[in-house]
Parts: sequence; structure tokens; C-alpha cells
Amino acid sequence: MKIIRLPRQMTAWSNSLIRRGKRIALVPTMGYFHEGHLRLMRLARQHADHVVVSLFVNPIQFGPREDLASYPRDLERDAELAEGEQVDVLFVPEAGDMYPEGAQTRVTVSALSEGLCGRSRPGHFAGVATVVAKLFHIVKPQVAVFGEKDFQQLAVIRQMATDLNWDIDIVGHPIVREPDGLAMSSRNTYLSPAERLSALCLFQAIQHARQRVRQGLREADKLLSELDGLVRADAAVEPEYIAIVHRQSLVPQALLDRDSVLALAVRVGKTRLIDNDLLFADRGVP
Ligand code: AMP
Repeated sequence: MKIIRLPRQMTAWSNSLIRRGKRIALVPTMGYFHEGHLRLMRLARQHADHVVVSLFVNPIQFGPREDLASYPRDLERDAELAEGEQVDVLFVPEAGDMYPEGAQTRVTVSALSEGLCGRSRPGHFAGVATVVAKLFHIVKPQVAVFGEKDFQQLAVIRQMATDLNWDIDIVGHPIVREPDGLAMSSRNTYLSPAERLSALCLFQAIQHARQRVRQGLREADKLLSELDGLVRADAAVEPEYIAIVHRQSLVPQALLDRDSVLALAVRVGKTRLIDNDLLFADRGVP
């Protein structure tokens, strides 16, 4: 596996493969790999001849009071894990090379970025869309793989790819969970043992919601108030939002249907965690 740091070297590598008719898949990440990341790499491999994983803790998607400085990093371990997945290139650019002095351009996907996580993280999705747009130009993939754990991010990127006529297949991977249901996340390492238990409220809320839907409940308001009670029952958990939205438009729904996604964000101590799931039987958002 090659580790490439400079954007122009990354593009040169991709150009040489594209000239030979090869298909490249990109998996954008912020590193500190867990099984969720590794599954994305495996799925990428099924879609292409060569897999590029980018590892970049993107400063412009963090707010001023967020965890940019403390975000977990371990390049040596990540490189070993990626190598074990037969990744061809780990692309690890420096912030100064991604955003040289004087850079001014931001990619904004308007409506989809406004609700849910966008409300409490202003500018976050513009930061994400901008870095993904740059990665698409630098790596030139035919396929890019993203996790459904960040389902608003996936919706934003699909919209950006459509709006900007990008000829790239955007592939989603279902959420990878720990055995007890907690969605895997690099941020789970922030949790104390007690907080780790409290964090299970996210999966419990999803299970409760799916059970109520199976019982025939269709009013979003009623379900949301039950979920609010369930999450607040643990004093260590502060909900940021609990919402039922359409899987593609992300517009809140009054009545549940097969397109309904339950999306949650909570704070457990200082750690912000998100989760989501489709409420009807078939799993996974598009
Ligand atoms: P991150 O490094 O957290 O920015 O994540 C990189 C990619 O991995 C994103 O597309 C995430 O949605 C995806 N991802 C992170 N955690 C999970 C998970 N538990 N299951 C599936 N995908 C995930």
C-alpha cells in the first residue's frame, strides 16, 4: 500500500490508472479506523479495481467549539488496518495543501444541510461538501463509498454529485454496530464506561420506535414524545434532536411511512453521538 501525501501526486497516480482503463473507488474518512471503516473499504473493493482511502481530519467541517484538536488520530495503526484490507493508496494530505492561503471556494448544498445536524453545526455540511468535492477532483474516482451512519452527509453528497453532474456512483453502506447495538464511531473512544452504557439509549430508541411501528403507530408526534421521554430518562443524556424525516428530502413527516427515517443526535457528557434507522422492516437508507 502506498501512502501519498501530496494532492498532485495523488492525481498523477489516478491518471496513470485511468489511462489504463482501471476503475478507482474512494473511501473518504477522518481516520482512527474501526470495523465500520473497514467494511466500507471492503465494499469499495467490490466496486473497483483499485481502492483509495483518504484520511483527513478536515478542519473546515469543525465548529470553533468542536473537537478538531482532540479528534483521535493514529496513522500507524490506520495504515496497518488499511493495508490489511488491500487498500492501494492511503491518501493523507496536510491541511495546508488542501486549503492553501487564499483559498475562497465553498460548496454549499442548501436545503439538505439546514436541518438535523446542520442546525447545531452551522457550516458543517459546507465543510463536508467542499472537502468531498476536492477529493473527487484530486482522486478522480468512478465510485465513492460512504456510511449510512452519517445519513444527512450521504444525502448532501448525493445531491452535490447530481447537481454538479459528477459521473461518480455514490454507494452507501449500512451502519455497522457493536454487538450491543451502539453504532461504531471514532468518537466512542471519548466515552467513559458509564457514558458508554448511557450511549445505548440511541439504539434503544430505534428499537422502541420500530416496535411501535410494528404495533401500528403512525403518528410521528406521539412516537417522538415517547422517544424524548425514553432518552431523557437517563440524566447523563441530553438530546439535541430526535426527528422523523423522509429518507431523501430529510423533510420532517407527520405520518410515518416506508420512507420514514428516525434520526437522533444526543450528547452524553461532552461527546456528541448520532444514529438513525429506517422505521419499517427493510433496513438501510438509499
Ligand atoms: P469518519 O471517519 O467518521 O468521517 O467516517 C468515514 C466514513 O465512514 C463515513 O462515510 C461514515 O459515514 C462511515 N462510517 C463511520 N462509522 C460508521 C459505521 N458505524 N457504520 C457505517 N459507516 C460508518
